[in-house]
Amino acid sequence: MTTLPKALRANLIEAVPFSTLEVVAHRESNDGTMKVLFRTHEGHPVESVLMRYRDGRRSLCLSSQSGCPLTCTFCATGSMRFGRNLTAFEILDQALHFRRLGQIDHAVYMGMGEPFLNFDEVLESARRLPDLGITHRRTTISTVGWMPGLTRFVDDVDVPIRLALSIHAADPRLRSELMPVNDRYPLADVLAECRRYVALRRRKVFVEYVMLAGVNDSPADARALSALLDGRSFKVNLIPYNPTGKYEGSSRPAIESFRATLDRARIPATVRLTRGRDIEAACGQLASTR
Ligand code: SAH
Repeated sequence: MTTLPKALRANLIEAVPFSTLEVVAHRESNDGTMKVLFRTHEGHPVESVLMRYRDGRRSLCLSSQSGCPLTCTFCATGSMRFGRNLTAFEILDQALHFRRLGQIDHAVYMGMGEPFLNFDEVLESARRLPDLGITHRRTTISTVGWMPGLTRFVDDVDVPIRLALSIHAADPRLRSELMPVNDRYPLADVLAECRRYVALRRRKVFVEYVMLAGVNDSPADARALSALLDGRSFKVNLIPYNPTGKYEGSSRPAIESFRATLDRARIPATVRLTRGRDIEAACGQLASTR
């Protein structure tokens, strides 16, 4: 704004920071994926990822918290120290950073954190994404099934923002082992809430299922998942595991046969493309220690 007096500009820079987040590091994968590490004003790390696909789609993965308190055993964010909820501005500033580099058309709340533990700020940010060119239909909020937030989402959110649920196991014992939150909010209750969403909003729920070799990827596991779901309400996204700790990812044939089992039960299922692995930007790898 060169039309403003210099002194005023200097004051504005001081008094009205351009962004609530400071960029600490930037990495680019050889598949075009970009990861940025930001820092809040008091130093909490926040990571975001931009995925660029060959068909031109540009999808942004946003963080809702610095760290995460939920300790899912396969997730790198779950093993770092929890910082705090991010404000709506801190979430939007992640998106604005990438928007300044070019167009973006999709956003997923699948970065660090559990969005429904930070319901108000997440929704406030999501409601403003259309100003950046990301429509609600191209915005997805992903949850472990945190019931208080899920219930509010079903009852109160009348814009067509999409819902994704991380399931990862149909068997309650196994799911509790992978996701301790399952003891607090059993899957049956969570799925009932999702079905209420489908009935009320007439949109399917995406189901995320991370494929862990020898843990949750057998034909019996696929049949158990099929028994829980139905193809009118749910669409499954199988996620190849990005090794970050004690598990190994399922083989391609195991993932394919899992998908085929779901297919036979008429439950639509796709396998997620893995992007940004070489820069630790892939699903579940966001955990800055800097
Ligand atoms: N807390 C929300 C939002 C985070 S989304 C949720 O769990 O849904 C992150 C998604 O990536 C979740 O489905 C999570 O289970 C998955 N994920 C976590 N660690 C992963 C890993 N190492 N490899 C692949 N997917 C992973």
